[in-house]
Amino acid sequence: MGGATIKTLRSRLTLTILAVLLFTVALISGFSNVYINRTFENYIAREEREQSESIVADIESRYNALAGGWSEDFLHTLGMYSLYDGYIISVADARGNVLWSAENHDMTQCGRIMADIAARMAGINGGGFETRDYALMVGQQKVGSVAVTSYGPFFYTENDYRFIKTLNAATLIIALLAAALAVGAGSLLARRIAQPVARTAAIAAQIARGNYNERFDEAPDTRELNDLAIAVNQLAASLAEQENLRKRLTADAAHELRTPLTAVGSHLEAMIEGIWEATPERLRSCHEEVRRLGLLVQDLQELAKFDSDNLKLTKTEIDLAELVRAVCRNFEAEAAKKNIALSVCAGAGFVSADKDRMNQVVTNLVSNAVKYTPANGHISVVAAASAGAGLIEVSDDGIGIAADELPFVFERFYRTDKSRNRKTGGAGVGLTIAKSIVEAHGGTIDVHSQVDAGSRFTVTLPR
Ligand code: ADP
Repeated sequence: MGGATIKTLRSRLTLTILAVLLFTVALISGFSNVYINRTFENYIAREEREQSESIVADIESRYNALAGGWSEDFLHTLGMYSLYDGYIISVADARGNVLWSAENHDMTQCGRIMADIAARMAGINGGGFETRDYALMVGQQKVGSVAVTSYGPFFYTENDYRFIKTLNAATLIIALLAAALAVGAGSLLARRIAQPVARTAAIAAQIARGNYNERFDEAPDTRELNDLAIAVNQLAASLAEQENLRKRLTADAAHELRTPLTAVGSHLEAMIEGIWEATPERLRSCHEEVRRLGLLVQDLQELAKFDSDNLKLTKTEIDLAELVRAVCRNFEAEAAKKNIALSVCAGAGFVSADKDRMNQVVTNLVSNAVKYTPANGHISVVAAASAGAGLIEVSDDGIGIAADELPFVFERFYRTDKSRNRKTGGAGVGLTIAKSIVEAHGGTIDVHSQVDAGSRFTVTLPR
């Protein structure tokens, strides 16, 4: 993973968001600026033409036909107004004699105004002063001519210039504000994304070190990050549970093995040292303990097999009715010994399942029912299969299980206090194995029970 280019998620996100936003802002302000300027320039250029034409129309309208010319005052006033607006005019009569010319009138003023405009427009449109000649017509008769000199293709008056400068400044300010906003929003967003990711990495590192107690305290409010946090929390929790289970399994197994071993050991010691006589009865009792030890080890082995995740099923179409009848037959003798009525109620119904494993499930359930039902009790086994699912129910009217112990009966080595006292139970793995098998089939196993009233175990299997 990674060379020199590893950056924090936060800086990467911030930079990317910043770049995209700045680019967008630049693009928008650039475009709008160009567009507004262009429109404005066109408007100004049109204004300039119209202004020239209006000067011509003004002069024409003030022609005094009787005197055959214009009043000096009028030409002077118009000329000076036009000059201040940036139009240098020169009016001549029909014969071409100059009647009034701004340049003749006030050379320095003309020069100054032209220099002002040229300076203002420098670098804006690379234009220059140009002169347009207009004939002055009254009716069909040409009464004179006027030459209008102005900066072309267009020029800004002082006000125009201020307007365009303000516009550009406003655009720049907007761009800067947007950039600042981009940096702020970018780093905020980045922090919101980066923080949970960094937390995930920290928790994962803790998990790798064997510390499963770290958790996300606050769920991020972004869907994917929230999912990530939940997944990490679940991972930590399930690893913690696995770890607990593993520790308990070892401790429980040691405990379960120690009790019978100690008993056999001390009995044999007493007989060897002659404290006890080795009567067949005592030897049988030792043998019984050893047998129980053997069963326990067998249970452990069995459990290890089912615990390994690759519990392989060899599924065939099996008849649940046939299965429960076969299992119950094996328990007939044991039930009869305790005078327990063992009844089977099953109609043919096929499900796809592993026959041997399902046999084990039913065996464990019926064996428990026989074990935990006192003499003269009743056990009923029901099997049914519908189109959707298979169902097996094993009910008894035995000692039952206390409500506070019910949640644990499927756990390894769990035995209720009552069954412990009675010394009837096995190692406490029968239900664990049954559950593993049923769940490997995609089914469920449930228990309903009441102390001294009896228990009902229900297994469902998908078709
Ligand atoms: P065990 O080998 O001790 O029977 P299981 O895993 O089969 O272990 O069962 C766990 C515990 O659940 C038993 O020790 C017993 O306390 C309780 N249990 C199981 N089945 C029954 C039942 N039919 N009636 C009463 N208690 C039961």
